[in-house]
Parts: sequence; C-alpha cells; structure tokens
Amino acid sequence: MVSISKLKSSSSDNANTQDRTEQTHSSAWKAMLFSSPSQIWKSRISWRITLAVFLTILAVQAVILNFTLKEFENERLFQLREVGRAAIAPLLDTSIKDLLASPISTEKADQLLSTTLVNGFAVYSNQLDLIKTFGEPLALVMLEQESLSKTYRSADGGSYEVVFRANDLQRPFIIVARLDSSNVQGEVFSFVKQTILIMLLMSAFVTSVLMMALGRWLLEPILFMRNNLLAASKDPENPQIPASPYSVSDEIGGAIDLAQKLIHQNADNIKRIKSAAEDKIHKLAYYDKLTGLPNRTLFLQDLTEKMRNSGDEKTMRYAIIAMDLDHFKDINDSMGHNVGDAILRGVGKRLRSAMPERAMVSRTGEDEFAITMPLDTDINSARDVADKVLSVIRAEPFKVFNEEFQIRASVGVSTFPDDAIDPDQVLKNADIALNRAKEEGRDSVKEYSEDFDRAVQQRFQMLRDLRDALEHDQLSLHYQPQLDLNTGKVIGAEALLRWFKPDNSKEGFTFISPADFIPVAEQSGLIVPIGEWVMERACRDAMEWSDKYGYDGRIAINVSGVQFSQSDIVSFTQKVITKTGIDPKRVELEVTESVFMDDIQHTIQVLQNLNSVGVELAIDDFGTGYSSLSYLRQFPIDRLKIDQSFIRNALNNADDAAIAKTIIALGHSLNLKVIAEGAETKEHEEFLLEHNCDEVQGFRYSRPVKAEDFVKFFQEYDGDLTSFDKK
Ligand code: C2E
Ligand code: MG
Ligand code: MG
Repeated sequence: MVSISKLKSSSSDNANTQDRTEQTHSSAWKAMLFSSPSQIWKSRISWRITLAVFLTILAVQAVILNFTLKEFENERLFQLREVGRAAIAPLLDTSIKDLLASPISTEKADQLLSTTLVNGFAVYSNQLDLIKTFGEPLALVMLEQESLSKTYRSADGGSYEVVFRANDLQRPFIIVARLDSSNVQGEVFSFVKQTILIMLLMSAFVTSVLMMALGRWLLEPILFMRNNLLAASKDPENPQIPASPYSVSDEIGGAIDLAQKLIHQNADNIKRIKSAAEDKIHKLAYYDKLTGLPNRTLFLQDLTEKMRNSGDEKTMRYAIIAMDLDHFKDINDSMGHNVGDAILRGVGKRLRSAMPERAMVSRTGEDEFAITMPLDTDINSARDVADKVLSVIRAEPFKVFNEEFQIRASVGVSTFPDDAIDPDQVLKNADIALNRAKEEGRDSVKEYSEDFDRAVQQRFQMLRDLRDALEHDQLSLHYQPQLDLNTGKVIGAEALLRWFKPDNSKEGFTFISPADFIPVAEQSGLIVPIGEWVMERACRDAMEWSDKYGYDGRIAINVSGVQFSQSDIVSFTQKVITKTGIDPKRVELEVTESVFMDDIQHTIQVLQNLNSVGVELAIDDFGTGYSSLSYLRQFPIDRLKIDQSFIRNALNNADDAAIAKTIIALGHSLNLKVIAEGAETKEHEEFLLEHNCDEVQGFRYSRPVKAEDFVKFFQEYDGDLTSFDKK
C-alpha cells in the first residue's frame, strides 16, 4: 500500500473534489498494483485468519488420513493373504484320500516356508481336526466354526495370521497360515509420511493463496480506508484522499464508500462552519453594530485599496467627507442613549440612501461618519458631495419616539489626489477641515486648504511656547473693574490672563491674546494647570488688596469647561480658599455656556458643589451659546453676563438691543443679577441704565490693567459714573 505522503504528493492541493478524485484515481490503482506483500505478511488479522484456516485444514486432513490409513493397510494385508493363498493352494495334494493325513509333504512345506512370505502354517480337516503344523508356531487355534473368520496380527506388526477355508483353497482342508507382514508395516509408514508431506504442502499452498486473497480483498481495502481516515484526521478541512477503487457492491467497498462520503461531508461542514464564523468575525471587525455601516477600519482599508488602484486609472478622483453631528453629546446626555442611538441609526440610513451605490458610507466614531465618493462626470466637485451630505441631514428633523429632533452637522471635505495622495493624509485633511467647520460655528461645510495645515503647525508651536511660559512664570493677570450701575461703586474686578511673550522686538515682547491661546490650552488640557495658577494668583492678589487697602470687592475668575470635565475643580477651589484665606463670597467663577453643552447632569452636580463651597457663579458671554433656558432654573447661579457683542451693537441693531433687554428681564425674573460687558461709551451706559441692568464692565470705565493700576483705580475713583464722561 502506498504511503499517505506519496498520495499527497501525487494529488494537488486543488480543493475541487472532482479534480481531486480524477487525479488520485490513477495513483490508487498504482497503489493496488504495487502493493507491498510485506504489508500482508505483517498484518496480524491476516495471520490470525490464516492460522485458523491452516489448523482447520490440518485437522480435517488428519481425520481423512486416519481413514485412508486403515484402508491402505487392509488392502495391503488382503494382497498379502492372496499371495499366501496362491503359494499354499497349489502345494496341496488332492489325491490323498485319508482326510486326516497331511496333504502337503514336509519337503514342500519346508520349501514353501523358506521361499515365500509364509512363515508357518497348520493344516486342519474340514471338521477342524488339526492334521499337522509347519514352521513357526501359530497364535490362531481353530477350535470352532466361529474362529474361521478371525485374523491375528502380532504386536510388532511383523506377522499376520489368516485362515484359508476349503472354498478359498478349492481343497477339503482348512489352513491357518502365518504370513510375514513386515513389508506391509513399512509401506504403511511411507504412505503416512507421503500423505503428511502432501497435506503440509497443500496447507501451505492454501494458506498462501488465502493470504493473497485476504491481502487483496480485505487488508488492502482496510488499509486504504485507514490511511484515508488518517489523512482526514490530520487535515479534516482539506482531506487529501484518493477516490475509492473498490466496488461498492461488496461490504468493504460499501463501508469505504461510506467513510469517504463522511470524510468529505465532514470537510464540507468544517468549511461551512468556518466560513460562517469568518463572516461573523468579519462583520464584527469591519462593521458598526448600531448602523450596520462599515466601520473606520474597513473605511480606511477601502480607501487604501481605492487609492492604490486609482494609480492605473489616471483620471480617478475621490471626495473624502468627514462629518460630525453638532452637539450630539447633549442629546445623548439629556434624552438618553436610546434616543441617541436611534438618531445615529437614522443618520446612517439617510446618508446611505442619499449616496449612490459606488460611495462608501461608514460610521467612523461615536457621532462621526465618513464617506468616500468617486468623482466623475456627473458629480465632479467634492464640495457638491459635501453640500449634499449637509442638506440630507438638515432636510427634515429626525423622528424618534414621536419626538422630532432637528440635527445639524459639521462637514469637512478633502479631495484625492488634489489634497493628498496618501489615504491617511486625505482623511486627516478632511478631519482638519471638519475641525475648522466646527470652530467656525458648526452646521457648515469646510473644504480642506493647505492654510489649515499651516494653522495646525502654528498651534503646535504656540502650545510649546505656552508650556514654556507657564513654567517660566511669563503669564500674568490684568484686572478690569466691575461697577454697580445704581450706586456707581466698584464692586469687583475680572481677572484676565495676559501673555507677553518675550522676543527681540522693540518692546521686548509680543502680546498674545487669550482669544488665541486659550483655545490651544483647552485643546491640549494645559488650561487645567493654567486655570489653577490664575485662581490662586487672583485670590492671593485680592487678599493682598484687602490686607493693605481694606478692599473687599469681588474677584471674577474665568473657568474653562475643560476644567469642569478634566479636573476636580471643586476641591481645588476649596483648597485655594483655605490656602489664601479669602471669603468665598468674594470669589466668582465665570463659566461660559459651553460647559452646559457637555454632560449636563455632571455640570449641575459640579455647580451645586461649588455653590456649597460658597463661591458665586456667573454665566459668561450669555446669549451666544445654546444653553437651554429650561435648565437655567436648575443651575445654582448668581449672575448672567451679557455678551459684549449685544451691548456694542445695541445702539444700531434692534435685534441685539432686544436680546440685551430680554436677557436683563430674564435674569431678573430668575432673581439673578445681570452684568453687561463691553460698555465702551456713555450711550452704552445710558442704554443699560434705561433697562435696569445691575452691573457693568467695559473700556468706558477701564481697560483690563495691571494689579497696581487696579489698586490705583479703586483708590482714586469716587463712585461718580459721570466722571468717565470726560475721558
Ligand atoms: P471674557 O471672559 O468675556 O472677557 C472679557 C473680554 O472682553 C476681555 O478680553 C476684555 O479685555 C474684553 N473687554 C472688556 N471690556 C471691553 C470693551 O469695552 N470693549 C471691548 N472691545 N472688549 C472689552 P480678553 O482679555 O482678550 O479675553 C478674552 C477671553 O479670553 C475672555 O473673554 C475669556 O473667555 C478668556 N480668558 C481670559 N482670561 C482667562 C482665564 O484666566 N481663564 C480662562 N479660562 N479664560 C480666560
Ligand atoms: Mg469672562
Ligand atoms: Mg465675556
């Protein structure tokens, strides 16, 4: 039988069963033809069967031998008797009338005894009277008629005594003769020897033939089946097994056929299970469970693939769109994840059905979606694709649990290969453009421009410089007075961060506006240590003023939303109050509406905790954000700070004036103080007075100034608002 490895090498790896069958058919037949006899001789089962057959044949032959041996011996003895009779009968003298006289003369008798196999004999009359004995004595004695049929054989088989009756002899005598039967003994012995030899030869022949037959019809098929099962157990998925050359009409052939079928069935099952598992894994790894859209991994893979292939088609261009839902976190936080999930599903569905089949629409992050769309003659501008995306989202509100949600999105777009030829870079560019869209007020499309890159680089540089500035104590605080509009008195100051970055210019520094560096600090988290430095410094300054000058005004400190989410602002505030010994009522934290955009529950909790620390809270830039009025009541705030843009425009823009008036009314209705910032002129002041605004801050009274200048201000100012008219 040929080895598995031989079979393997003769059959290709082709998984196709048909091919495999044809290829291996011939090798199976070769295996049959050249099957090694040593396999047969080594086979235990063959030996057992053969031994049993061999012994059975021997036993049967021994029984047969036993019968034929007796027959053979009898035949020889009969021949001997005939020889004896033929020798004796002619010697009897029939002329003698005396029935008791010996019919044979002594000379004749002696001659008979010496020349023939007759060793001795006795002559009886027909009436059984003993007439005469010659030669060796006899064992048989004829006394009665029954004795006539007897014979005698000596123990060593050397002599044989027989009775010749008158009929046998054709004479009226009975003769008992002793014949030399030693020859018969020899012949029987050689007969036995010969027969046993033949028996052995026959058994050997039958056994050999049997072995061959067993090998051919039993062993080979069994080994064939065993080898196939072995091959199948080694590689159940791709069993390299030859087709069975055995006819299914016999039992073994049938069993092999069944085993082969099971092996192939098993392989097919494994393949099916494996491919189902692979499908599942593929789905889990490459698709988003919520929307069913491809995920970021698949999106990038597809993008790489497309861009690699587009090398061949010179004209292939793609729009890469990055989209982010505006304020999605709010919906998630306020309405729960079920609503958030339903909206994401809706957005996914809407995008998928709005985009043609050839576009790749995927969900790349929580509320982020990305699209790759080939640009062709129909749609050849990436901008058009982006506008379409935005309009699809804006088209109508999303309906969830019978509630309508107007969703807005920011979209960034870049073009391959115009903006970049590397897939990661194109997507990055789309992301940069998306960030731009978000920074510039959201709900819009921004196309990638190289300038954005430069802006990003500049931001990195600014971040490095800002870190340096914090470390080398190059940051400082300016203070801008806040006045009570009714009494005219200074009631406090807002601490505003200043960065005069040392350089080689004439002044020795460059002023960098907080409007430029605060966003960078916020994005990097650097705002946390900076904010802590500001709070500690401002409180320490305020304490110094009260210690030295008896000043007991408030100090307003700007706090970034990032400080709310990334640091423990409550315990830090408590620490600063304890450390500086300032009365917490004199500390006011200004937070912008953006903090309410984040986790509302968390914000309420933090604000309540700050309230219990005893500090006051103001909402800065009020009116510009999205804060929902319904939440306003839940916040433990003390003051609304009208954004300066409304004040600045109040006199020439009716809308802005209306907003400012409304904020004042709203604040009062909620029992809050209202402070206006950005008051630059007497007219601004008059407007605010007319509408009962409580407090004011602006260039009309003072720009933000150094600590010592603010001290001068509150020491010199007498509380008369009109004193600013001259300035
Ligand atoms: P803000 O908190 O709304 O501060 C008021 C801004 O208005 C200040 O700008 C101030 O100089 C300016 N201002 C005050 N009165 C007038 C006026 O009559 N006319 C005009 N045109 N402007 C006026 P500044 O100092 O450039 O600060 C800009 C923003 O930077 C601040 O807005 C605040 O959001 C942020 N900021 C400043 N210091 C800090 C700080 O220590 N921490 C944090 N987180 N943010 C800060
Ligand atoms: Mg402020
Ligand atoms: Mg402000």
